[in-house]
Amino acid sequence: MTAHNHTEETTGADRLEYAPAWWAIGAGLAMILAAVLLWPNAREAAEEPRPPAAGPHRPNLALIVIDALRADRIGARRNGQAVMPFLESLRAAGTVYQNVWAPCSWTRPSMSSLFTSLPMETHQVRWSADPDKPDSPSDVLSDAFETWAEYLREFGWHTIGVQTNPNCLPQFGLAQGFENYAFSAEWRADQVTGKALELIGGSERPFFLYAHYMEPHLPYPSSEDARAALGWPPEGIPAPDLDTAQQDFKTYFWAYLRYRYGMASTPPPDFSDARRDAVRLLYDAACLTVDRAVQRLVETVSRQFPDTLFIILADHGEQFWDHELLGHGLSLFEEETRVPLILYGWNTPAGVLESAPVSLLDVLPLTAFRMGLPARQHWMGTVPQLPDRPVFSATRAPWPSWNTDLDMVVFGPWKLIRDNNTRETSLYDLRADPGEKINRSAESEAIVRQGLDLLGKHVEEAIARRQAGREIRPLDDAVKEQLKAIGYLE
Ligand SMILES: [Zn+2]
Repeated sequence: MTAHNHTEETTGADRLEYAPAWWAIGAGLAMILAAVLLWPNAREAAEEPRPPAAGPHRPNLALIVIDALRADRIGARRNGQAVMPFLESLRAAGTVYQNVWAPCSWTRPSMSSLFTSLPMETHQVRWSADPDKPDSPSDVLSDAFETWAEYLREFGWHTIGVQTNPNCLPQFGLAQGFENYAFSAEWRADQVTGKALELIGGSERPFFLYAHYMEPHLPYPSSEDARAALGWPPEGIPAPDLDTAQQDFKTYFWAYLRYRYGMASTPPPDFSDARRDAVRLLYDAACLTVDRAVQRLVETVSRQFPDTLFIILADHGEQFWDHELLGHGLSLFEEETRVPLILYGWNTPAGVLESAPVSLLDVLPLTAFRMGLPARQHWMGTVPQLPDRPVFSATRAPWPSWNTDLDMVVFGPWKLIRDNNTRETSLYDLRADPGEKINRSAESEAIVRQGLDLLGKHVEEAIARRQAGREIRPLDDAVKEQLKAIGYLE
């Protein structure tokens, strides 16, 4: 979506310019108000979340996306070492959201939802594009949707993206709104940090930096140091097994999934528990590699630009046989949908563990609220605050031929997954059964009905917003003249 004028947006910009009035209230009162407004638990007491008045600065925003990072890697130990020591340290230094779900279990729809605060059924980014049917699902985020970068750019932020996932190439619509969008699938974590620091270096306006790291994504590249720190090579595994874990896993990965989905009749060669754990070790080493690169980014930016709000999250998780699957995008189990979300830096309360259920759709509204920017009416995310509000996710065909079509809702302790191909439902009690091993559908018909009802309403609302989320594009005079000439305008 391109720049345009709405009354509400002009109002928001004016409010920022009048910021000094806020400080006339007096520093003491301002601090109390800021604490009340910014403290999530205190906010729950208020009926409606109200944006704080704009502060004296417009902070820089650093959105750090770590692809395929499972929420459970923060706090995990291997070989006596923390897998992600830096992110773990932010539990004390920042605000950690403990119950966060990705809106989709693969990159492109999930990132589209994060950037637009709209679910997949609204933006319709999925595989299987049909350009001849304009209203059919597309694999490209339409230019008609306003992205996070476009939104902030309108308020004067300098928008910079550093990207390493080919799912987010500009031709898929995800570079919309970025003044600089540097992309290379070859960059490793340190290079992403280096490129990000280089691009924000000369920034004279507040910046919105989006840095996307790929290490925890197949094939799980990691530094030698990180592997050694976590105990590679593992003891007691024969050399050929280690080779398989390290070099042949990608081949095995596809053979395993094809067999699981009935596309191959021969099962893949047996993969022992020791080999499986070696693969998990490599994933953990990738997590540690990225943790160190993110630490360098956060610490350097914090020194150079103290007024920076860091937002650290993942677009989805990763499966390691948890439900007899691998990778991501084929299921909506917790290992694929639960993601980390950490806020740190500018005006962020330290040491807060936030337990309200959160969707990645909420991150844009949450940060806009924190900065006192106006919310868009079409956003479907909200400032997270209600303890029992439902959170949704979905996945549709990460690869065309696999025809996956799943919807999910988490409500209270319950998680319902509906398979739209078979019409089957699975119901899990996440408190009693966090590993989602026991399907309670058959014995809990009323709860299933409640979940299906929530899903039905959600999809209905998402579809209704397909137009509302789109730009009302003012016609420029040249276009008006052309339309007049062919009889579309008087
Ligand atoms: Zn991804």
